[in-house]
Amino acid sequence: MRHKSNIKARHVAVYIITMIVLMVVLPFLAIRLFPVILDREGPSYDGSIPDTVEVWITEKEACETIPFEKYVQGVVASEMPASFDTEALKAQAVASRTYALGRIKAGGRLCDTVHCQVYRSDNIPSKVKKAVEATAGQVLLCNGKLAAHALYFASSAGRTENSQDVFSGSFSYLVSVDSSYEPGATHKKEVLTMSVSKFADKIKKAMPELDFGSVTSRNIKIRSRSEGGRAALVQIGDQKVSGADIRSALGLYSTRMKFSFKGDKITITTGGSGHGVGMSQYGANGLAKKGKNYRDILRHYYQGTDVSRGT
Ligand SMILES: [Zn+2]
Repeated sequence: MRHKSNIKARHVAVYIITMIVLMVVLPFLAIRLFPVILDREGPSYDGSIPDTVEVWITEKEACETIPFEKYVQGVVASEMPASFDTEALKAQAVASRTYALGRIKAGGRLCDTVHCQVYRSDNIPSKVKKAVEATAGQVLLCNGKLAAHALYFASSAGRTENSQDVFSGSFSYLVSVDSSYEPGATHKKEVLTMSVSKFADKIKKAMPELDFGSVTSRNIKIRSRSEGGRAALVQIGDQKVSGADIRSALGLYSTRMKFSFKGDKITITTGGSGHGVGMSQYGANGLAKKGKNYRDILRHYYQGTDVSRGT
């Protein structure tokens, strides 16, 4: 009897240990090892902003410690023309501050190039300084969490993109919205003409791992478009590739592209400049000129977000 109850006790002990492992240890390890998954909608935000940031200065091949708000000034001055409306500059300041904080919280290092955000330390117009100071410490929040992927780009030529149609991740605040008012936008319509054989060479050179077969004007087609109107899937010869791959292979301003053919020539027409996700900078300027303030602009381009109270 005693022996039997020992076995029973051992079973109960094994059961309890198994349950502890399943319900406590494994979730704990999952959180420790894969925090990114849980941070899908952004890192939690406790209202604090670091006083300084470490930025890799490419020219000096060294890291510099820069006061955070001074860094934001240098980014806004580099990323948006100072001639833009003050409200657009303020929107840019909040977006850039949020994006930088997101990278810091994710443990990434900031550099001064387009890889992160372009930054310069000198020639900061006073208009930019004032716009940054007016939003000091303010960041974009989505459901109380940092909207860490506060992406932006130059111009959309009509509509922005869902993030999952351009990059791998989908974020509730990076969805396709109207951006039809972009006065003075550069690269509204870019036209590139070349022979079909040169076009085929460029594509094949950029994607040597794919066998395109014989490429002719009859088998170059845009097969599907994203909600924002950009080329999603493009047929080239025997292959289907993404609009983004075509953009990088040909160095196009955007994936909002159209093809037309005449004789042995192909003409590629593109609209807008940049990846199309998040805030259109020319769109922000357009909304500002229509009387919208920076909070309205940010709420439009980053749906469901709000600006924190700041410092
Ligand atoms: Zn970088």
